[in-house]
Amino acid sequence: MAERINAWLREFDSVLQNEDIPAAVLLFQEEECFWRDLLSFTWNIYTAESRQEIRTMLEETLTNTKPSNWSIQGEAEELEDAEGLYIQAFVRFETEKARCRGLVKLRGDKCWCLFTTMVELKGFEEPAGRRREIGVQHGSVKGRKSWLQKRIEEEEALGKSKQPYVLIVGGGQGGIMLGARLRRLQVPTIIVDKRKRPGDSWRSRYKTLCLHDAVWYDHLPYLPFPDHWPVYSPKDKMGDWLEAYTKIMELVYWSSTECKSAAYDASTGTWEVHLDKEGKDVVLYPKQLVLATGMSGFPIVPTYPGSESFQGTQCHSSEYKGGEGWVGKHCVVVGSNNSAHDVCADLWENDAAEVTMVQRTSTLVVKAEIMLKVNELYQEGSKYSTEDADILFASVPYRIFHRPSILLYKKIKEWDAEFYSRLRESGFMLDFGEDESGLFPKYLRRGSGYYIDVGASELVINGEIKLKSGVTVKEIRPNSVVFSDGTETKADLIVYATGYGSMNEWVAKLISEEVADKVGKCWGLGSDTRKDPGPWERELRNMWKPTRQEALWFQGGNLHQSRHYSLMLALQLKARMEGIPTPVFGLAEVHHTR
Ligand SMILES: Cc1cc2nc3c(=O)[nH]c(=O)nc-3n(C[C@H](O)[C@H](O)[C@H](O)COP(=O)(O)OP(=O)(O)OC[C@H]3O[C@@H](n4cnc5c(N)ncnc54)[C@H](O)[C@@H]3O)c2cc1C
Repeated sequence: MAERINAWLREFDSVLQNEDIPAAVLLFQEEECFWRDLLSFTWNIYTAESRQEIRTMLEETLTNTKPSNWSIQGEAEELEDAEGLYIQAFVRFETEKARCRGLVKLRGDKCWCLFTTMVELKGFEEPAGRRREIGVQHGSVKGRKSWLQKRIEEEEALGKSKQPYVLIVGGGQGGIMLGARLRRLQVPTIIVDKRKRPGDSWRSRYKTLCLHDAVWYDHLPYLPFPDHWPVYSPKDKMGDWLEAYTKIMELVYWSSTECKSAAYDASTGTWEVHLDKEGKDVVLYPKQLVLATGMSGFPIVPTYPGSESFQGTQCHSSEYKGGEGWVGKHCVVVGSNNSAHDVCADLWENDAAEVTMVQRTSTLVVKAEIMLKVNELYQEGSKYSTEDADILFASVPYRIFHRPSILLYKKIKEWDAEFYSRLRESGFMLDFGEDESGLFPKYLRRGSGYYIDVGASELVINGEIKLKSGVTVKEIRPNSVVFSDGTETKADLIVYATGYGSMNEWVAKLISEEVADKVGKCWGLGSDTRKDPGPWERELRNMWKPTRQEALWFQGGNLHQSRHYSLMLALQLKARMEGIPTPVFGLAEVHHTR
């Protein structure tokens, strides 16, 4: 197997050295082939989806890239999917500017999927391992400064006598991970967050929340969770970890600092960013602006007739603090996805008199323990390191991502048939995505529409959580909610678990509506499924890659994505700071504004 991959690599290396693009293209399968590239050729996140597209990509990128030294890394593996057998192996190679890795998948002697990714810039390697700092100045030196003095001086200078190269707005996990990458790459960076302490974006959520993803999937760069860490992190523990990480990684983090506005001056290539830092106006002039303000950061609150007359409490799920105050009360939760289930269960645990969940459209439900069982890459004792697992995960082009997922969900539906049938019998409208491909494709397409079941489904099934499904809220009265089927439910509390808007809403708010529409929507693949209108985009809109607004970037996603793609974003920023040419191939068109 390894020899087959080596033979392919030798051939590929040789034709690329000779800039023989037609010959390179012939090394890919004719009927179906993909090349997903993270920066190494395209300085973009881009997938070529046919021989013709690979040809175009190479025609525009090969001369600048100068790839060489392709070699296999580790063992080759043989695997099987619905289309038959294929073999795969990790590879490494270099370009003129960077060291890179990848994954080759061959069917027969042709490449079916090639994945390539930059991992470090030549000459700007992170100071890790043998390159680490000495930390001490041995000998006797007059007036020497301690680590602490230098650290304080640096913190005091940045943003005053020295401008940051990068300003990250939003210091949740996304901003923090990117900050850590940039720190290691010696890119002067300030992270600002309006909350009081790093980690507060988790702490501020309702009391009983635990992460829905398991620990092996959630590691932060450079500093994995210790091996006693619980499988599902409680949110306050996660908050504390993020705060400690911020300190350990020596990030310059301005808490209680809200970004009020930002404007780009194209003539100087500089942003002017206005901040409210603990009540004082501060202006920064970074070269690059990253919005890490959260996919779950711009609450959508529907307006219903009569809502202003409601005499109880109404809030979005992001403002819900917990069920303690609602003992013996009637509570209505609008929505049926993750937050809605969590809030309903929390109210039930706190002895609310009645909890009603309002389900307008169907929801995907999958049990957390099943998610754990099927996540083979990120497991206790997995044969793959986190970095390798991230490469394997990223190596599947989004165009075909749903295929293995459909097969997987076929099995899940069988394993949990009894559970799903009881859930349906309770009146719950269930789906597995329009093409039955399950959770992750739905997450990529629309970032919503699912519940990872950590127990609330059983409460729905046994009627402890009352379900109003297939209806909408028609009207809100002073003490009740009226539904579209004419029924009415008493209410002291209404929680809108109705989701979040696209991240470019933040652009409209902080920069301008014009720039928001210029960059277009964030997230989504254009799969032409519900809430993800086409055309097909190949990659997630705007995330971690160049946008239509120079020097404006978006960072975010779940812990896994923020970990992996923060490296991509950090390398792009570092390259720009160092003046390395970064010709972008395949800058995405904008098809949807907000
Ligand atoms: C109930 C629930 C459960 C979840 N479970 C998981 C899970 O198990 N695993 C997982 O990976 N994800 C989970 N998520 C998704 C989770 O929201 C994101 O993964 C995570 O919060 C994203 O981090 P982020 O840094 O991108 O955004 P956020 O955590 O939302 O951080 C954004 C930050 O930006 C700051 N900010 C916004 N505007 C400004 C401004 N103008 N100036 C300064 N600061 C600003 C905010 O204060 C905030 O701290 C869950 C979400 C919810 C709602």
